[in-house]
Amino acid sequence: MKDNDCIFCLIANGDIPSNTVYEDEYFRAILDLSPAAKGHTLLLPKDHAEDLFSLPDDVAARVMPTARKIAAAVKEAMGADGINIVQNNGEAAGQTVRHFHVHIIPRKNGDNAMPLWNPGKSDPEEQKKIAEAVSALID
Ligand code: 5GP
Ligand code: ZN
Repeated sequence: MKDNDCIFCLIANGDIPSNTVYEDEYFRAILDLSPAAKGHTLLLPKDHAEDLFSLPDDVAARVMPTARKIAAAVKEAMGADGINIVQNNGEAAGQTVRHFHVHIIPRKNGDNAMPLWNPGKSDPEEQKKIAEAVSALID
């Protein structure tokens, strides 16, 4: 359901105009207002869900096929060499708008458009414990 206090709900449902690149029954995809690179697109579900954890399964199942379709068009239209798919959950992870969305970011070789993570070091014993701890919490 739409939340009238949520900017992405209003955009996704057409109450606020946007540069729309795709729309269907479940989603609208729009150009990001502050793009990391030209053609940076956001895929928004029309129903409000704060983040990945509150996204209904049926919508979640449609996200990747829809993102792939849009990413292919963005890549071709922008003449990109690659595409980043980014999806932030929670403030610590960089989420600034509390309505689930997927970033589709076209990249050119050597563009430095966005930082990726800093690769760290891993300890085999610690890795084993982490894998066990996570695994125990998955149905
Ligand atoms: P987050 O940091 O939550 O993963 O990403 C939010 C994104 O939404 C940012 O890239 C930001 O530029 C974009 N954004 C925020 N407000 C608006 C808006 O009103 N219109 C559009 N098109 N993009 C927005
Ligand atoms: Zn919303």
